Amino acid sequence: MGSGNYYDVLGIPRNADDSEIKKAYRNLARKYHPDVCKDSGAEEKFKEINEAYSVLSDEQKRAQYDNMGHDTFTNASKGSYTGGGGGFSSDFSGFGDIFDFFGGGQRRSGPMPGADLLMRIQVSLEDAVSGTDRDIELMHSEQCPACNGSGSETKKLNICHRCGGSGQMRQTSQSVFGQFVRMTTCTQCGGRGKIPEKPCKECRGTGHTRVKRKISVHIPAGVDSGMRLRMEKYGESGEYGAPNGDLFIEIFVQSHPRFQRIGDNLETMIEISPAQAVIGTTVEIETIDKRAIDLKVPAGVQYNTALKLSGEGVKRRGKPGDLLVRVKIVTPKNISNEEKELYVKLAELEHTSGEKGGFFSGIMGKKKGKK
Ligand SMILES: [Zn+2]
Ligand SMILES: [Zn+2]
Repeated sequence: MGSGNYYDVLGIPRNADDSEIKKAYRNLARKYHPDVCKDSGAEEKFKEINEAYSVLSDEQKRAQYDNMGHDTFTNASKGSYTGGGGGFSSDFSGFGDIFDFFGGGQRRSGPMPGADLLMRIQVSLEDAVSGTDRDIELMHSEQCPACNGSGSETKKLNICHRCGGSGQMRQTSQSVFGQFVRMTTCTQCGGRGKIPEKPCKECRGTGHTRVKRKISVHIPAGVDSGMRLRMEKYGESGEYGAPNGDLFIEIFVQSHPRFQRIGDNLETMIEISPAQAVIGTTVEIETIDKRAIDLKVPAGVQYNTALKLSGEGVKRRGKPGDLLVRVKIVTPKNISNEEKELYVKLAELEHTSGEKGGFFSGIMGKKKGKK
């Protein structure tokens, strides 16, 4: 992952606006694009720039990033994939944008790497907080097993006669500026330079087939809406041995009836009576992972006070968040005669202490006490 904070990577101040971010990104991306810059480390730098840009150019991600700080933000979005195959990591690279700067649509010679896939999944707040494993069904292309991806039933390939095996064809044209020679991809072999001896019946010579796969995805604790998990090589199959694309899984965290997420903290609410608020009480709180915890509400608690249960928030690597319990004091509407008598008595007492210049004097002073 990137070494430094995203603002430093792009060389912009923390209060940079959208156009400054975009400008800095474009300049740097042009400079460090692997097709342009042959310095060692250029590719790494290019990735860093893209990562920084994809976060800072997204209002929601930027706010999250500013809020959490660099280390927490980047660690939160890393996970580990347990199903074999490639690694599993967060990815914020916005390669979609960058190729537009360099004459998009330019096809490379040789077999094309597989395309990336994007899948969106919804997770409950419980799962986002604690992490989970999820089986998902994925439709993608894989190497044709009948021909081992060669496209040839005999697995043998012949040199393409049209391009002589180079995969490229010369196209010359005349213009007022002189003769233009342009290399284009061979239409006979699609740039491969070889053609199947006998096209495979299973895949019609393409070398790959579409299959439905059930795969297991580890969703790390602390994920939030908009984060993308990358499963390397789980995208579309590459052409004739070219690398596969990646699968990106974008997270959407559902809202919860009882808990609200604010950064790494969770918030919930309890209701207590005025009497409980005055003398204090103990209430049982069910945490998001369904454990019961006793919470002491101190005597004299005020409306909307947040009482903290440490470590009961988002279980992120490193320091977990807290659970904040907001206290709502609810005035009872239907009370028994006995309760009513006590409230009357209480009001009288408060009035008396008000006359003595006690705590309630300011509130009660202008009103007539009930006799
Ligand atoms: Zn050819
Ligand atoms: Zn085949």
